[in-house]
Amino acid sequence: MSIFSKIIAGDIPAWKIYETEKVLSFLDVSPVCKGHTLVIPKKEIKDIFELGSVEYESLMEGIKKTAEILKEKLSADGMNIFSSSGETAGQTVMHLHFHLLPRFKGDGLKTNIHENPVKDIDLGELHKQLID
Ligand code: 5GP
Repeated sequence: MSIFSKIIAGDIPAWKIYETEKVLSFLDVSPVCKGHTLVIPKKEIKDIFELGSVEYESLMEGIKKTAEILKEKLSADGMNIFSSSGETAGQTVMHLHFHLLPRFKGDGLKTNIHENPVKDIDLGELHKQLID
């Protein structure tokens, strides 16, 4: 059982933002920006590869609703949404979650993936591998 299941069960407290029968949103305990929020399925699902179609819909709806709440209440100018699946990708809590990061003009938060360009990939070869 992950720490998030304990939050769902009410065994440890969390600052809840949005909740339905299937989804829960709450403030990240170690925020990287104002309003940093996590959205999780209540069902114990480890990562994106274990996510089924039923939970997918409710989770997507929860992400959208939470993003709207954060944008409106904090007057955010934008929103980054990301999720890590697997230790190699940086996942530290093994219960699927999406980070919502409200963005404000000039906030300086470093989330730009384009700062990591890779130039030695043959896109044609890669495409063949992916569609074969
Ligand atoms: P990950 O590193 O797996 O992408 O994200 C896990 C997130 O969960 C981290 O940002 C971390 O701060 C957050 N987190 C870990 N434990 C707790 C907790 O007990 N309560 C809350 N609200 N967030 C937590």
